[in-house]
Amino acid sequence: MMNIGVLALQGAVREHVKALEAPDVEVTVIKKVEQLEQMDGLVFPGGESTTMRRLINLYGFYEPLKAFAAAGKPIFGTCAGAILMAKEIAGQAEPHLSVMDMTVERNAFGRQRESFEALLSMKGIGDDVEAVFIRAPIIRTTGTQVDVLAEYDGRIVAAQQGPFLACSFHPELTDDDRFHQYFVQMVRESLAEPAV
Ligand code: GLN
Repeated sequence: MMNIGVLALQGAVREHVKALEAPDVEVTVIKKVEQLEQMDGLVFPGGESTTMRRLINLYGFYEPLKAFAAAGKPIFGTCAGAILMAKEIAGQAEPHLSVMDMTVERNAFGRQRESFEALLSMKGIGDDVEAVFIRAPIIRTTGTQVDVLAEYDGRIVAAQQGPFLACSFHPELTDDDRFHQYFVQMVRESLAEPAV
């Protein structure tokens, strides 16, 4: 059995828990730092990245999350979660956890398009992946180690760097759980070949 945690400091976590379900997966709602130790993988949900960061600091999650990433354990950040993972945030002096070599731009689709749905073609996953965008960021630039998994309207909306996965949208808000299951497979593989 592998353990995947969903960071539950803010935002909806129930849908993530459901999308991660698999016979060999135990999903844990993470509210305390001590729970992280048992986790083989972690999901950062959407919400509001500055609020989430404030709560990360308040509850002492900052260093433990950095250590989790430094150990090479898989992390999947969705929307605000992806912003937490970026090395650079356009227009902001400091990033948050800085685990993926990419620059993100917050609220990049503008006011007219606060939320919308799209079907994406995703590398390694398939076509017609349903994606719900809510005040979504975009991934503006990626480093050489980062693999672009999906674009929408010529903009990068999903990417992977080794054990780290990020997307601009909310894959948990649809019945299509392929993207979460792609992450589950990453966790499976990381356990088969432990990080050095
Ligand atoms: N706009 C939010 C932020 O900047 C992210 C939105 C979301 O997670 N749905 O943090």
